[in-house]
Amino acid sequence: MTSIFFGRLFIVALVAVLLAGSAAAQPAVNVVTTTEDLASLAREVGGDRIKVDFIARGYQDPHYVEPKPSFILRLHNANLLIVVGRELEVSWLRPLIEQSRNAAIQPGAPGYLDASLTARILEIPTGEITRAMGDVHPLGNPHYWLDPGNGRRMAQAIARKLSQLSPGEAAYFNQRYADFDRRLAEAEKRWEAMVAPFKGLKIVTYHRSWPNFVERFGLQVVGYVEPKPGIPSSPAHTLELIKEMTRQNVKIVLVEPYFDLKTPNAIARQTGAKVLVMPPSVGGVKEATDYIRLFDYDINLLVTAIKSLGAG
Ligand SMILES: [Zn+2]
Repeated sequence: MTSIFFGRLFIVALVAVLLAGSAAAQPAVNVVTTTEDLASLAREVGGDRIKVDFIARGYQDPHYVEPKPSFILRLHNANLLIVVGRELEVSWLRPLIEQSRNAAIQPGAPGYLDASLTARILEIPTGEITRAMGDVHPLGNPHYWLDPGNGRRMAQAIARKLSQLSPGEAAYFNQRYADFDRRLAEAEKRWEAMVAPFKGLKIVTYHRSWPNFVERFGLQVVGYVEPKPGIPSSPAHTLELIKEMTRQNVKIVLVEPYFDLKTPNAIARQTGAKVLVMPPSVGGVKEATDYIRLFDYDINLLVTAIKSLGAG
């Protein structure tokens, strides 16, 4: 049923686009990314030589995206699709790609880039994965963009791919990548200096979104509000978590903007901890307008909260 629905809307939308026509200069590559983080990295490298659209907004849970006909049209017109991969988009992306009727961006085609392939991936499970483990990603933790080192690797992979698709612009893309690399390195020094006094600080997070972030910035996650990835909290797990937080004197609970605050707030009341709604993606709050500003925002939020607790 969904497929017929999309099929019909697809044709209507396609006709509308053909009728509208476009006399504007065409950028070299028409890019669609699954997330705003990828869109930001693509813009850093592609500048005005590419057009970038994204699917999931930064304040949405990227594991679950409501498919819309407009996404199919965007994919139909793309020369390059960039995905986070590691099964982050596993529940929603495949039908959209299939229905785009665009051979160029199918997995394995030159216009398909899995940005995780050159990234440092954590939590790759060893041994058998069972349903009892919750929504565990068998290819490792897909929230890897939250290490700026991976942001750099992703930008480099994007520059390489854009150069492949538009060889005439390769020098431009490489120069843009070099400039991003330099600005990111400067920002990393600033972030590291800000968090340095709080090395080893223990926190709790709602979902397993932050392993790359905490590893990079020297924090320690002692528990999760979710009993297992993708599984809603339960009273028994919450009680256990409160006990553990009290025992280890944990005063920070990070919550992604798309989760309910009821349980985190209850935990905070019991433990005297502070709940921080911390965006894991560009566009998660209005201040996080690009990849570097996302870390600026998050690290500022975190450091300000730690200082206000006097726990530093
Ligand atoms: Zn996840």
